[in-house]
Amino acid sequence: MIRRVAITTLTSALLLLSLASSAWANDVSSLRLWRSPDHTRLVFDLDQPVDYNIIPLSSPDRLVIDLADARLKASFKKLDLSDTPIVKIRHAKRNKGDLRVVLDLKTSVQPRSFLLKPSGDAGHRLVLDLNDVTTSKPSTVVASEPKPEARRDIVVAIDAGHGGEDPGASGPSKVREKHVVLAIAQKLADQLNRKPGFQAVLVRTGDYYVKHKRRWEIARENRADLFLSIHADAFTDPRARGSSVYALSRKGTTSAMARFLADSENVDLAGEVSLGDHEEMVQKTLTDLVMTSSLVSSIDVGERIIGKMGELTDLHSKRVELANFRVLKAPDIPSILIETGFISNPKEERKLSDKRHQQKLAQAITQGVMAYFEENPPMGTMLSWQKDNKNASEHVIQRGETLSKIASLYNTSVAQLKRENALKSNVIHVGKTLRIPRS
Ligand SMILES: [Zn+2]
Repeated sequence: MIRRVAITTLTSALLLLSLASSAWANDVSSLRLWRSPDHTRLVFDLDQPVDYNIIPLSSPDRLVIDLADARLKASFKKLDLSDTPIVKIRHAKRNKGDLRVVLDLKTSVQPRSFLLKPSGDAGHRLVLDLNDVTTSKPSTVVASEPKPEARRDIVVAIDAGHGGEDPGASGPSKVREKHVVLAIAQKLADQLNRKPGFQAVLVRTGDYYVKHKRRWEIARENRADLFLSIHADAFTDPRARGSSVYALSRKGTTSAMARFLADSENVDLAGEVSLGDHEEMVQKTLTDLVMTSSLVSSIDVGERIIGKMGELTDLHSKRVELANFRVLKAPDIPSILIETGFISNPKEERKLSDKRHQQKLAQAITQGVMAYFEENPPMGTMLSWQKDNKNASEHVIQRGETLSKIASLYNTSVAQLKRENALKSNVIHVGKTLRIPRS
């Protein structure tokens, strides 16, 4: 299951790639397109590596892609261009047997392209990223209403592994890891967002690839208190089963499975773009986790999640696994990687694609996360405030507060608050003192 993907990255707008040319025409057998919050990815599936040229043109904005010695065997018509900067795609034969593809654009884009070698089910590919030219940040940030000082929400960044061109692991019935983990991540985000004092941020919101480094950036930009990376495992032995939770250690590995991941990980981390199989992404995520100064916190929250998941599903390991990975950088956020099950196991593949099971997994993870933060609330959060004020008998009303907000602060109801204070309406006044009912 370990595959290496050689990646050539071209950053300049006008570059010619010279690869071994072939006597046979290169068929473009299919075209695929993904839209992410900040770029559009167009993938050409090819028979063999291709010599190509990308030429950006303006007024009107266009992108010309010349493929040497290539034939179009697919149609652009099925591609969903809505929400993309592409208005129309045209093509024509050029010289003797070259293919020219022209993208008519609504706005200018920053193109970036690279070739990928065969990996998994995919063959040779030309990947073309059209990066949006914007002044504002990508719309991944979840807006929240301003909270009074020192009572902010705990932010949990939920990273669904893989996406888009990178399907992750596949099950025997071709269930894709990227779809399963996004479904679980979305359910987890919904559940956490319903808990007072918590706010979830989805690192990936659809079927598109997010660069590894960018996943961390999104967590940091949202000031996440916790980073959860959600995956579904694959192993050479289809009998392998159960969930596991990983945190990182520089000191050593705790199991053969952790070593299996670590051994392959330490081979090659040079590629900035991670496009490959499940292990590659897991390893890169884990590599970042190794530097965490919050390893103890990571293990603590991981143990609570394992405890809850163990009530629901088989565990591959009953403790948080540690693995030894090459150090790249120092994330400051407690971070764990959750393997929700083995997608390579036919029974678990079925379970992982079942909506009710996904919901239960999300619930177990939510409970583990809540249990951890109820005991270890970060400073300045509502949970921390609640912990400090749990025996308070009075509350002085602050600007912007409502009865329902005050009730949720003290884990009580509006009705109880009104009864305790003999209030006839929901109108309250800043500076007045309310008695807090004892539960
Ligand atoms: Zn994965």
